Amino acid sequence: MAVRPDLRALAGYHSPQVDVEVRLNTNESPYAPPPAFLAELRDELGRIAFNRYPDRRCTDLRTALAAHHGVGADQVFCATGSNEVLQCLLLAYGGVGRAVATFEPSYTLHRHIAEVTGTPVVSAPRDAAFALDLEVVDELERTAAPVITFVCSPNNPTGRAETLHTIQHVLDVAPGLVVVDEAYGQFARASALDLVRAGGPEAQRLVVVRTFSKTFGLAAMRLGYMVADPAVVAACELVVLPYNVDAVSQAAGRLALRHAHAMDERVGQLVAERRRVQTALGALPVQTWPSDANFVLFRPLHADAVEIWRRLVDRSVLIRDCSGWPGLDGCLRVTIGSPEENDRFLAAVDESLR
Ligand code: PMP
Repeated sequence: MAVRPDLRALAGYHSPQVDVEVRLNTNESPYAPPPAFLAELRDELGRIAFNRYPDRRCTDLRTALAAHHGVGADQVFCATGSNEVLQCLLLAYGGVGRAVATFEPSYTLHRHIAEVTGTPVVSAPRDAAFALDLEVVDELERTAAPVITFVCSPNNPTGRAETLHTIQHVLDVAPGLVVVDEAYGQFARASALDLVRAGGPEAQRLVVVRTFSKTFGLAAMRLGYMVADPAVVAACELVVLPYNVDAVSQAAGRLALRHAHAMDERVGQLVAERRRVQTALGALPVQTWPSDANFVLFRPLHADAVEIWRRLVDRSVLIRDCSGWPGLDGCLRVTIGSPEENDRFLAAVDESLR
């Protein structure tokens, strides 16, 4: 049986899982969750009724997230990674003839999941510094009237966060939902959650997507969520598969929030390391871009990016090769790791560029 013809053209989204000593390619946290959290989770496992389906509505986790963010529990929707949140939004609001907008280069899964769900994608470029150009935004919103506008902030893989002024502007001109993907939100100074909490008629179209994969050190758990208007939550509940978030993940997410202060400390360490890596890269023959996230985009000035990527793999350091992505000619992205991992990366990149 032939696969759907429109899927044949899709390249897929694969970060190579090469066996190396230093993995700085998928923007995870270098730190395992705190031991106290793991002990609490082990206790919790003894209380889970494994023979029963989990709470379909994730009641306790939603209540805990709502308290954490100062919103109502009916404004929270949980899923298997923030990717599933994005998929639910596209299933509920996208589809044939209902275009969504992206500003490129950006997180490739916005486009990919849209295409998988049969949703057309209209795109416009970011400016030379990879920020949103408000005139370009206005033009795209006016001509394409997208049902969803994706704004990745901080933007993966380029690093910068948009200001709340920019997000508010997009909300003012967009006719549909504005989905702010804040997978790296904890590393940035401002969050669009402030605009959700401020309320008002426009906030009903604002969706903020977050994940436990990065700062909470729970990428293995696959847990993400969104904060949005209750009507958007209800729409996602229409399309999500029943019992999408397993009982262990629900417990892990709820318990992780109790350790938010430990996570904040780690964010502080990673931000300090990010500055150190940026400064060190600044002394090498590479172009770098400012970052509000836990990764840095850079471009070797006199060397082939793929060759540098290979030389790093030869030194057991894996980073992300973005050089083939539209708008990112010659670019590589490195995740900020532990100080030791960053030292390994900096030594390897220095040697590789010689
Ligand atoms: N959004 C962005 C911008 C990301 O970079 C990622 C992870 N690569 C995700 C969403 C998905 O994260 P997860 O599904 O692990 O929550």
